Amino acid sequence: MDMTAEENIGQVEINQSDNEIIFTDKDETAIYKTGMVDDPDLTQRLYDSGARFSGQIIEQTSPLLTFLLTWLLPIAIFIGIGQYMSRKLMNRASGGADSMIFGMGKSNAKVYVKSSEGIRFSDVAGEDEAKENLSEIVDYLHNPAKYREIGESMPKGILLVGPPGTGKTMLAKAVAGESNVPFFSMSGSEFVEMFVGMGASKVRDLFKQAKEKAPCIVFIDEIDAIGQKRDGRVGGNDEREQTLNQLLTEMDGFESNNGVIILAATNRLESLDPALTRPGRFDRRVPVELPDLKGREEILKVHAKKVKLDESVDFSAIARMASGASGAELANIVNEAALRAVRENRSYVTQADLEESIEVVIAGYQKKNAILTDQEKKVVAYHEIGHALVAAKQSNSAPVQKITIVPRTSGALGYTMQVEEGNHYLMSQEELENKIATLTGG
Ligand code: ADP
Repeated sequence: MDMTAEENIGQVEINQSDNEIIFTDKDETAIYKTGMVDDPDLTQRLYDSGARFSGQIIEQTSPLLTFLLTWLLPIAIFIGIGQYMSRKLMNRASGGADSMIFGMGKSNAKVYVKSSEGIRFSDVAGEDEAKENLSEIVDYLHNPAKYREIGESMPKGILLVGPPGTGKTMLAKAVAGESNVPFFSMSGSEFVEMFVGMGASKVRDLFKQAKEKAPCIVFIDEIDAIGQKRDGRVGGNDEREQTLNQLLTEMDGFESNNGVIILAATNRLESLDPALTRPGRFDRRVPVELPDLKGREEILKVHAKKVKLDESVDFSAIARMASGASGAELANIVNEAALRAVRENRSYVTQADLEESIEVVIAGYQKKNAILTDQEKKVVAYHEIGHALVAAKQSNSAPVQKITIVPRTSGALGYTMQVEEGNHYLMSQEELENKIATLTGG
């Protein structure tokens, strides 16, 4: 009101809907806002003061933009989401009626597409027989025409059988790496879901992807999770059986020469359903054994490439001590040795590190706190010396390498370590009797 009296008003905007008046001073240096008052003469007075009436003093968002943002954008978003979901559901529907639930039943097989850092046969130490067997597959994947010409059909499925940690997964990856083809990998247990039918649709999905990418390798780890014998137990596992049936159907469903090779790994061959192992399915078996002395030495060397070593390290001695260890355990031994070196502030691994870590892997860590009384220690010492003396007195017994009475976390209170000179496949009666004598010597 004062400013109208002083005729100090520039532009004016009366905003009925928001009950406010927005105006500027004469020079338009400032913008003011005030509420509406019930003053019928206001317009006239403003007019008299020379104000210019206007619709846009402050830059407002344009009504068109406001309309777009508040109405069209949400609608567009909803349509977008709707279409995405319906497309997903259509996909599922074509994949099987059982998998209509959004986002489920899709196999999450990881695709390892060819890459230069892929694992090669040279990374897998030992296991020469398995490598030789698998190199035929590599050759086939490189040049399928050669095999088709003769009329030979490649096995569709190859079963890698062996104890855990012997390098089955590594070998499968190496086949893919050597052949330079995509590698689909999935674990048997990943197929088995809570809902009946999900596993089957995952199998379908996996094979669909694989056929699109052929030539390629499908690797199913721990196939015993789905491939166990169907023995009609009461309350059997419907889901697992459906998954297995689907796998069998898929394997029958494709031509043996279409370039999809299925590798599967198990450590329990005897528990597999015979339908899986019959010719035409997993008809080739590649045994992957625990490494022998030479194999162990090679595996140790492969893994020791990654760590710095002292000159004292003698791999053949370590390999002899680690008799019966799998590839994974040997990898672990090297790693434990490196950790021990770091703990002792050294930048290289010594023979003692490796020897100690064999004991860690076999018998667990040393128990530091004195848990035994002197009397108990004495008993353990007599016991271990008993073993060692009897062994040493015999001519056909492996030499004693070490006697210890340091308790380990595995529960051993001490032990006597005998190390064979080389591989040992057969035992004579005398050796067996010696062994029994040594075991009772304690
Ligand atoms: P599996 O599938 O038979 O249980 P993996 O192939 O997963 O065993 O092996 C586990 C680990 O053990 C590998 O990542 C590797 O470090 C080591 N390993 C096992 N066997 C060998 C081998 N023959 N040569 C080199 N490393 C091996």
